[in-house]
Amino acid sequence: MASSDLTTSSSVLQVPEPAEIRQWASARGILILAHSYQEGFLQECAHFVGDSLELARAAETEQAEAICFCGVHFMAETAKLLNPTARVFVPDLDAGCSLADSCRAEDLVRYQDHLEGKLGRRPTTVAYINCSAAVKALCDVICTSGNARQVVDSIPAGEPILFVPDKHLGGWINETSGRDMVLWNGACQVHELFSVDTLRVLQDEHPGSITMSHPECPKAVRDASDHVVGTAAMLRLAESHHGATFLVGTEGNLIYRLHKAAPGNRYIPAPGASCACNLCPFMQLNTPEKLWQVLHQGGNEIEVAAELFEPAQRALKRMLAIR
Ligand code: SF4
Repeated sequence: MASSDLTTSSSVLQVPEPAEIRQWASARGILILAHSYQEGFLQECAHFVGDSLELARAAETEQAEAICFCGVHFMAETAKLLNPTARVFVPDLDAGCSLADSCRAEDLVRYQDHLEGKLGRRPTTVAYINCSAAVKALCDVICTSGNARQVVDSIPAGEPILFVPDKHLGGWINETSGRDMVLWNGACQVHELFSVDTLRVLQDEHPGSITMSHPECPKAVRDASDHVVGTAAMLRLAESHHGATFLVGTEGNLIYRLHKAAPGNRYIPAPGASCACNLCPFMQLNTPEKLWQVLHQGGNEIEVAAELFEPAQRALKRMLAIR
């Protein structure tokens, strides 16, 4: 990938190649983490690339004075919660998440109170990791798409559960586990866009293809898929095939990782190869130029309010203890 110029108010910095950026950061005790939904250049810059669970584990276990998180705000907050002594910063502070925004802490606490009055007991609240630290602090346990079923299975049968914020992931867990969790009405704006009609057309155009979709997709899309799996499981599935054609129902940048992990397959993004609407606009705010700028100049540091640390860490650590 070509290097590019970075214009700042005071200077012009040349963005080096990814390996050079990584080495530059290593020499200064900075760990670069990148989510699988980041563009390929940023993935190449990172010491670790992964899904939310893998990155949470890396943030917790890696020794680093500082973490530069190429991802969205709630992910960087999670890194800070799990590694409080490290300074955590992001290429762009505006990289948020529509799903996290759909569940505000003040609304959640009101709804928990309402359910407690209705059910006669406070439900166990399970939060998908795609939420703010303030929401995590109100929850009993966190999950990712990769371990949501295990987390829910760890809660005794019969215990009322409120699942926030993703109604599609929660609905999928209800379907596969037989639970009857109360679902928060939130959704990811990227996965919500996948349409079963477009998927059916693609499947007809590619007979013999394998459709894998993320559990954040609507039920109709999930039902039309061969596999409903998180991104880490998509990678494992791809690696177990050679010469296959996969229709990929998740954020489009995962295809970069799929190609790298299992280059012998063909990957076609849903809803279509020429359509960029499956790219997350928040993830796209992070660019090589912004990464290089923040590494050089600092700023964009993530802060978490002191009172949120203990309850949010407790919910996260309960998840990480579930193997
Ligand atoms: S892909 Fe969806 S859930 Fe992930 S950061 Fe973007 S808006 Fe949020």
